[in-house]
Amino acid sequence: MEHGADAIVVGRVDVGDADRIMRFLTADHGRLDLMARGARTSRKRFGPALELGTRVFVVWRRGRGDLPSLDRCDPIAMPRRAREGYDRVVLLAYGCELAYALSAAGQGNEKLFRLLLAWLDLLEADAEPGHAARVAFEAKALTFSGLTPALTRCPVCGEPFEGEVRFDPEAGGGVHLGCGPGKVVDATVLAVLDTLRRTALADVGPIELPKAGRWLLADFVEHHHRARMRSRALLDTMEGA
Ligand SMILES: [Zn+2]
Repeated sequence: MEHGADAIVVGRVDVGDADRIMRFLTADHGRLDLMARGARTSRKRFGPALELGTRVFVVWRRGRGDLPSLDRCDPIAMPRRAREGYDRVVLLAYGCELAYALSAAGQGNEKLFRLLLAWLDLLEADAEPGHAARVAFEAKALTFSGLTPALTRCPVCGEPFEGEVRFDPEAGGGVHLGCGPGKVVDATVLAVLDTLRRTALADVGPIELPKAGRWLLADFVEHHHRARMRSRALLDTMEGA
């Protein structure tokens, strides 16, 4: 039986000499791994629709193997600018990897899907997204995945933050100095992260993100994903990182 869905290509893993597992994010089915048989031997088989960040309509069927088989993959929109400059390529890869990491198979997540589309849109705009936009994307993705980080109030004692606090992904975000371990950071930095979390991606431009807040949420994602993200290392090589 055939199934179909609006999807975004978010990753791939080569299998053997000929095949490839394609990773998709969908609104209705969450993350979706499909076996693309012959994808590596015949470039014509699925065409350019398998490029990272491409929005596609994907059709699959249950096969004999563990994974359903990719049947057809029709491009709806392809990244253009996002494939032109190094920084944009890295940000595209990071967005796709992060959305996949925070999604679950078989669990629809319309908000996460829309967020990734908004991120892809941002990468097509004139201005290249900076740290603030990336962090806003991380904060929203965490929130839509049920992992909202504590940024204004301590999850241990319930009181609001003031002055210096600690940041501990294990505890769920910020905690008071006396409420747990973690990296010391000023509460105003977490307040900026919370503002970014609640601001539309396209509107974060004027918000100034202190340097101390640049990597807290990326660390948070990796802690809960229980793995390093491959594209995270590339972010560090970007200009002005
Ligand atoms: Zn506390």
